[in-house]
Amino acid sequence: MKSPKLWLRAEQVQKIRKTALELLRRVHYVGGVVPVDRAAHELGASIRYAPYDGELAGMLIRNGSESIIAVNSAHHKNRQRFTIAHECGHLCLHSDNLYVDKNFFVLNRDDRSSNADDIKEIEANQFAAELLMPFPNIFRDLRSSKIDLEDEQQISNVAKLYGVSVQAMTYRVANLFMIQRVERPK
Ligand SMILES: [Zn+2]
Repeated sequence: MKSPKLWLRAEQVQKIRKTALELLRRVHYVGGVVPVDRAAHELGASIRYAPYDGELAGMLIRNGSESIIAVNSAHHKNRQRFTIAHECGHLCLHSDNLYVDKNFFVLNRDDRSSNADDIKEIEANQFAAELLMPFPNIFRDLRSSKIDLEDEQQISNVAKLYGVSVQAMTYRVANLFMIQRVERPK
């Protein structure tokens, strides 16, 4: 039997957004590509790059107030940035000492039944999106029609401005567009 697609509740999205924006303030973010490594350091994490085989994207190993974020350096730079942001999400939102992360985007798409661990992964993904593509900036870009959902070239240009993959930006914009229509009709 198919279970319904898993979505975070609007309140949860707001909470995660607030946490990510607070972290951005702490690293004095003004616009463009988010300094995700500085954000990780701000949370007390050091980053280790190593070329792992297969689909392993990264890991978070927490030991008290010190943490290590391991990143698969064989992956594309944009994906490495997303991995670091995702692990920052676990650091900010969750309390377990070890997270081993593989293919993030699969989780948002498939329809297997969800459990608490899946929800944590979806929350960490949401955090990564909120951190790398900050809501006020993307919303401004959307309103000023810098981003047209139908225009792949535009999405690709904006993805470059924020140092994220086209896939991540497409997902982000589609998501915001949907949520905005529900939450803030204008
Ligand atoms: Zn994770």
